[in-house]
Amino acid sequence: MQDNTLIIHDGASAAESPGWKRQLSRAVRDPAELCRRLELDESWLPGARGGHALFETCVPEAFLTRMEPGNPADPLLRQVLPLGEETREVSGFIDDPLEEAEQRPARGLIHKYHGRVLLIASPTCAVNCRYCFRRHFPYADNAPSRAQWQEALDYLRQDDSIREAIFSGGDPLAANDKQLAWLVGELEGISHLKRLRIHTRLPVVIPDRVDDALLAWLSATRLQTVMVLHINHANEIDQAVVDACARLQRAGVTLLNQSVLLRGVNDSVAALEALSERLFEARILPYYLHVLDPVAGAAHFDASDDEARKLVAELRERLPGFLMPRLVREIPGEPSKTPL
Ligand SMILES: *Cc1c(COP(=O)(O)O)cnc(C)c1O
Ligand code: SF4
Repeated sequence: MQDNTLIIHDGASAAESPGWKRQLSRAVRDPAELCRRLELDESWLPGARGGHALFETCVPEAFLTRMEPGNPADPLLRQVLPLGEETREVSGFIDDPLEEAEQRPARGLIHKYHGRVLLIASPTCAVNCRYCFRRHFPYADNAPSRAQWQEALDYLRQDDSIREAIFSGGDPLAANDKQLAWLVGELEGISHLKRLRIHTRLPVVIPDRVDDALLAWLSATRLQTVMVLHINHANEIDQAVVDACARLQRAGVTLLNQSVLLRGVNDSVAALEALSERLFEARILPYYLHVLDPVAGAAHFDASDDEARKLVAELRERLPGFLMPRLVREIPGEPSKTPL
């Protein structure tokens, strides 16, 4: 279960909190309400409650409005609707498939690959994706306060092979801009750091997150900025998302996208082709297409490696090379993502 205290109790009253945060606090968190809003019949409810008990429902309004009511197969709804299948135990699908619990040299920091480190800048997300490999992650233990960041910052200072800091989470943009701007300021003081990368789904699920406060620190930093968005289906990109991406680009941010291959969401050549085309309309380049991490509760999203390879081979016959995502898997202990 995730801990929302960092997001909600930050000292600001509701009236002064930014619009995106009010939208987040009003997200649909009750599986019955989600079913009602999407006009699903009663048969979906017991399963939704079962899945919700393992990993809570969270769907902001701005994401919900891109779904088609009355369609339980809607590709956006499938990503967020809890299902009874999540309670099924499937061999090989485990709580920490990436063995991240063992990769933490400092609080809030994961260093697995040469030259870049992940910083867990926020324990929470703006949407709870049912396939997420972090659904069993001990979030509350891993979002340091300012004083607690010192250990991670010291780690970065003493290793000059590290060129890139990656804000991850949870979703790092669920943190306050004040906190993020402070952390970026600390990173800027480390001369061997060149790049700041942000892995986030927030500009997609709540496009209003890309507000002046965010753009202010993004455009002011000396670090080169890259944002890796997480979009799995073309329908996620509405005009508000296109506009948010344009604001980010004007602030000098390079936009990339990673997707997860998900059965029932994007496991067809047509869906993947439409996704790449739509991404480029928003001037986002496809980066990775991940095969599913074998996390407990997500087995029903799994597509086989053979299917994945076949889809990508067919996709390559339809798209220019620069719109092809790299098909990869994360294997614990490997020095990079592994191409399939
Ligand atoms: C995926 C990942 C990265 C980034 O890998 P790239 O191939 O550079 O995108 C960095 N650190 C960790 C721990 C990761 O899981
Ligand atoms: S936004 Fe990312 S980290 Fe958060 S639940 Fe979705 S996939 Fe997982």
